Amino acid sequence: MSDERGIERPKPTIVQPPDGHAGSGFFATKVDEAIGLARKNSLWPLPFATSCCGIEFMSTMSSHYDLSRFGMERLSFSPRQSDLLMVMGTIAKKMAPVLREVYMQMAEPKWVLSMGACASTGGIFDTYSVLQGIDRVIPVDVYIPGCPPRPEQVIDGILKIQELAANESLRRRYSKEYADLLTKYAID
Ligand code: SF4
Repeated sequence: MSDERGIERPKPTIVQPPDGHAGSGFFATKVDEAIGLARKNSLWPLPFATSCCGIEFMSTMSSHYDLSRFGMERLSFSPRQSDLLMVMGTIAKKMAPVLREVYMQMAEPKWVLSMGACASTGGIFDTYSVLQGIDRVIPVDVYIPGCPPRPEQVIDGILKIQELAANESLRRRYSKEYADLLTKYAID
């Protein structure tokens, strides 16, 4: 398939249904699978962008890379209406409580993506004022390496989050393992 400029573009794909039983006029699957499919394809990201990685994210959102292909064009700056926290940029120690507050205000289920060396490890800023990785204050699901990561890497990280969202058991958020994880971060 080629566009109006004659450039070859892959054919748009329709989201595949989960595993299940299909027959004439019916399809049956597990609730976990159906909810996983919905969660996977309707993530609402909250971009917590503090520096240059945020600019790279803007590029990922724009027409060329077009993040809306993943059902994610609706960015949310309200923690209560988002389920994917994307942390992009240097997080100063003074900013850490703010980040933690934003995380705690998000409703379950929620996922966290740490984009770039600064958010993941403090990056080149090994100083007294910079948090040496956001996983010191909140749990992280996926890390994207790079300084800055390219939009393709951001997309790869988001695909990994989608995989987690699609395959997560409905019981996970009520499990002892998850409660222990939050306790480790002193989160109720
Ligand atoms: S990882 Fe690099 S590009 Fe990203 S915020 Fe840090 S210095 Fe900037």
